[in-house]
Amino acid sequence: MKTNTDILKEIIDIQKIRKDFPILDSIINGRPLVYFDNAATSQKPWSVIKAIEHYYTDLNSNVHRGVHHLSQQATNAFEASRKKIADFINAAYDHEVIFTKGTTEGINLVAHSYGKKFVQQGDTIIISAMEHHSNIVPWQLLCEDRKATLKIIPINEKGELLLDAFKAMLDEKVKLVSVTYVSNSLGSINPVREIIELAHRKNIPVLLDAAQAVQHIPIDVQELDVDFLAFSGHKMYGPTGIGVLYGKQKWLNQMPPYQGGGEMIKSVSFEATTYNELPFKFEAGTPNIEAAICLGAAVDYINETGLENIQHYEQELLEYATGKLSEIDGIKFIGTSDNKASLVSFIIENVHPYDVGVILDQLGIAVRTGHHCTQPLMDFYGIPGTVRASFAFYNTRAEIDTLVEGVRKAVSMLAVK
Ligand code: PMP
Repeated sequence: MKTNTDILKEIIDIQKIRKDFPILDSIINGRPLVYFDNAATSQKPWSVIKAIEHYYTDLNSNVHRGVHHLSQQATNAFEASRKKIADFINAAYDHEVIFTKGTTEGINLVAHSYGKKFVQQGDTIIISAMEHHSNIVPWQLLCEDRKATLKIIPINEKGELLLDAFKAMLDEKVKLVSVTYVSNSLGSINPVREIIELAHRKNIPVLLDAAQAVQHIPIDVQELDVDFLAFSGHKMYGPTGIGVLYGKQKWLNQMPPYQGGGEMIKSVSFEATTYNELPFKFEAGTPNIEAAICLGAAVDYINETGLENIQHYEQELLEYATGKLSEIDGIKFIGTSDNKASLVSFIIENVHPYDVGVILDQLGIAVRTGHHCTQPLMDFYGIPGTVRASFAFYNTRAEIDTLVEGVRKAVSMLAVK
């Protein structure tokens, strides 16, 4: 009979995959690197690294402007990448994919542009209690500017959104709901289908912060019927400095430009300027061409492995880690939703998370400690921060064993008896 491990081996050839990520061979403080900071940024496969080299050795040129050969080649590669990303999330049109710097810029774009057009004094924006600062502060700035109100969907102790409270907030004053698909601090996978359905019943659009979702869960924007979706390239095996804002064309067409400059115009005179069509209306200035093209290479890599296989394998790692870590005395998980992505956040009685992080680093283990840019969420739990280990599909059970050993060591050194 096949064991669980045999089945997983068929899904993900872990040794082959690890060879694709050169940094995983690093030795840190005399030990093999155990990289569990994937929610902050993921590592990059050779195919992405080589795509960057290929861009600068063979393609480098500015896009959309030149008639010369290189400019056309770069433009073709840039637009081919947009198409790959549109297909990856099943956007109806390629021009609904706007290149940004990352999730943060995508959310700021919507807050500025949608906010300017649609949010007036007395209106409401809804976010949740588990948002990353980048899905809080842009809305605070907008609400301050517009004299609008920010309302917060509460959560329970497990880190799950309280949908009844959300339902009760939905009235004609609400102009947008902006929530995270997956919490970066808790791992909770939010019931976004229900959230979108409930909001749409009142004709309210929904933005999903997919920074922690797009690399773990297959997303079909048409099937979800989501209005806006923001994510970052660097968390999905692609380069830094690039991200995507997906928006339904019916919204994007009504929204004013976010920034002014080259590329986003049709014609400019001192009397009147007309704006370019989608997606260029929202892409002022020279974009991060290399990173946009190489994000396409990252999407290819994910597609070759298969996001469903990745999801399956990572869920197995999550279960294994949760089981093993729970055997440690004094450990308390922060974020125990029934539906979680592959990360564990925890605190240990009488031990500061930062000190755990330092000891784990001495053992070559990279975790994140602190508030993870979710200070209001930490306030809800009454803690300064957590230790967070976030897993990718190149991680292994053996690495989790190393983490568990490391945490035990930290506890024995640090716990105040
Ligand atoms: N939202 C969530 C849920 C995140 O985890 C992050 C990154 N930690 C962001 C937004 C911001 O992403 P970026 O810094 O790439 O813009």
